Amino acid sequence: MQTNNLKASLPLYLSLSLILSSLSITFASTNGAAHSFTSQKADEMALSQALEMKTTPMDLEMGLAYSKTEACKQEFEAAVADGKRAIDEALKTAKHGQAFAVVSDIDETVLDNRQYLEDKAKKVTTGQSDVDWGKFENWAIEARAKPLEPTVRLLAYARSKKVAVFFVTGRMEKLRKPTIENLLRADIAYDGLYLRPDGDKRHASEYKSQVRKSIEDMGFTIALNIGDQCSDLSGGHAMDCEKLPNRMYYIP
Ligand SMILES: [Mg+2]
Repeated sequence: MQTNNLKASLPLYLSLSLILSSLSITFASTNGAAHSFTSQKADEMALSQALEMKTTPMDLEMGLAYSKTEACKQEFEAAVADGKRAIDEALKTAKHGQAFAVVSDIDETVLDNRQYLEDKAKKVTTGQSDVDWGKFENWAIEARAKPLEPTVRLLAYARSKKVAVFFVTGRMEKLRKPTIENLLRADIAYDGLYLRPDGDKRHASEYKSQVRKSIEDMGFTIALNIGDQCSDLSGGHAMDCEKLPNRMYYIP
């Protein structure tokens, strides 16, 4: 992995202690209140959302409008605050030598692609607007997505507590260089960056949960998994999950 931009290296303690009995997931609701769910419930919610999306696609323009509201800001910040509590709680339970990690998604989690989405929103035949993903690669290569500050601060907090930060993104491996460049430009430090193999067609939930398992296999306990899609979170392999708001698009 090319992570020359690491600002610090994390001591690698290889004592693995999985805390499977306390798996939970928290979704912030639209009014900012947070609710906790079991990991199984998270999977059920992901399935339910997938089924709902088949009949009621998201509307990009309405999602963009919501993303600029105070309600969305509060929803985002409530999930981040819950994430910080999850990290603190995990550290309280730490056994000697136990290494913790945070797994984070990238797009709409730490990098804000709304400039691309504003430009590329297009009408579809159903009358709803949808994302044109065809030019996303060109946008990503420009490496100029702005940071989403609440999550950036959360990840910096985690690293200050010697909790490793691993990005697990649905971006393809061919976008590694501009992704590193964008993260560096946004002043976001991390300990590992997993991109999807070029041409990989698996659902994000399958790919991402397998990566989380490999992180556990390296010896880390994943204290927190955070992302804007249910598919970032379903499939277990994290003590706590936080769902950030995104009504602009849906990724299975
Ligand atoms: Mg995302």
